Parts: sequence; structure tokens; C-alpha cells
Amino acid sequence: MNVHSGPALLALLLSSQLPGQPTRGLVDAHVHHNGDSAFLDKMIARLDAVDGTAFLLTLPKDLNQVQMAIRKYPKRLIGFGSIKLDDPDALAQVERFHAAGFRGLGELSGPLKSFDDKAYAPIFAAAEGHRMIVLFHTGIVNRSNPDVPADISVDRMRPTTLDNIARRYPKLTLIGAHLGNPDYAWAAEVARWNPNLYFDVSGSTLIKKQEDYAFFKSVFWWSGIASPHTPKGGPSAFEKLIFGSDVFGGEIEEFDREIERYRKMLDVCGVPPEAQANIFGGTLRRILTRAK
Ligand SMILES: [Zn+2]
Repeated sequence: MNVHSGPALLALLLSSQLPGQPTRGLVDAHVHHNGDSAFLDKMIARLDAVDGTAFLLTLPKDLNQVQMAIRKYPKRLIGFGSIKLDDPDALAQVERFHAAGFRGLGELSGPLKSFDDKAYAPIFAAAEGHRMIVLFHTGIVNRSNPDVPADISVDRMRPTTLDNIARRYPKLTLIGAHLGNPDYAWAAEVARWNPNLYFDVSGSTLIKKQEDYAFFKSVFWWSGIASPHTPKGGPSAFEKLIFGSDVFGGEIEEFDREIERYRKMLDVCGVPPEAQANIFGGTLRRILTRAK
């Protein structure tokens, strides 16, 4: 039988098109800008291919360069200000980023106090007032220069610290990066009860768990459950995830690899195409439109 004719051909065409669809209009919530404009050109080419948008995590020194790039590619780039919570200038920087049209803050990392410490209240209040989205690092973090002493602790960046911030600032949208690696269960549970909290699953997690992606069904367990013990939500619990590639240091290939890992994990867990489309971009596009 010739499988390349009639209905069989149609089925083949459809099956080869469908896998690409959830990534149309992709939003990558986690792209570290390395300060190099050549990197931005490569990122734009990647985003053009999927009609996508990236949250470009930008150091204060690169604010002007990125502001110009956003003017050039308003559909492709959304600026996030990478401030340090303990910087005495942090609040002023939030205002500068906001005035420059940046829509979020982050990736916040390495705080001297726990993320939910009241010392950071003015920063989160300002971000909420401006309807900014805040991306927090959660869980294990690299130690890039082991010879240099550093006052950094993963304990201050546990995913559970986002619970208190989400409740205190209901109009703030929070994204926890890395699904709290390895506190996945806690990350998912605090996201379950906080409608303004999402996680990306970038970093080493999808590499570590690549032989056991079905594991995530035990973490996002409440799909389709109607119960007074769980809030009403979308049909798939996985919709507490959004896409983030965590490209850093200009390593653009990580963008492609991370899309592949997300797709594989979501397919293994049986996450339907509509939910995948929300994870890859739909959810964040709605939040961005609402916050305007
Ligand atoms: Zn991170």
C-alpha cells in the first residue's frame, strides 16, 4: 500500500505539523542578555522562526542598549531589569527600568535575606504598582567562582518563599525559575494555591529527570480534579508551568535544546496540545495584555 496518498498523506502531513504548533507564539520567560548585540541578532532569528517573544534579562549597565533593541523589535523583546534586591539603588533602578518600558524584573538571585523578607517590601510594592512580572531564581544555584567568598545561600531562595510574596501582592505576577530544583513538590503546591505564581522548569531538572519524565505527573497531580481542597483551574495542572530556556553567556543553542526537553516531558506526561500552547506562550501573552 502506498501510504503517501489520499487520507494517509493528509494524516502524515497533519502529524508532522501538529508537533510544531504549541510553540507558535512562544514566550521565553528566561533569556539572560550577555550584553553583546550579536547575541540579540541570533535571538531575534530564533524568535522570528516561531513568531516568539523573549523576556530579556538585562543588567542595569545594558539598559540603554536593550531599550533601543526593544524599539527595533517590539514584538520580539520584552525587557526585564536584573536588579540586586540588596543594592541600595535597587528601588531607583526599578523606576528607571519601568520608565524605559521594561515590563518585569529579574532574574532575582543571591539575596542576603530570604526572598520574602519584609526588607524587600518597597521593591515588590513598586513592581506590583507598575504591573511588572518578577522572575525569581529558586532552588540550587551554581557556584561560578569557588575561590571567591560569596554570601549566597540556596536556603534564602526556596520556592516556598514565593508563597508569602504572592499572597501579599495579589496583583504581582511571580515566576519561579527552575521549579525550585529539587523542591519540585513544594514549588507545584505553592503554585497550585497562588493564581499569580508560575514556574519555569529550566536548568538541570529536565536533564536530570530525562529517563523519568512521567515523574512530573506526581508533582502536577490535580488535572481535572473537582474538590473543595483544590482551587478551580485550567484542565491541566501543568499550566502552572511557563516556558523558560535560561539561555546565558550567549549560548543560543540552549534555546533549541530546552524546547525539545519541554516538548518531550509534556508529551510523556500526556499534556494536551491546548495546555502545551498555554505553557509555551499563551498564559504569558494573556498576562502581558492584561497588565497593559
Ligand atoms: Zn536561575
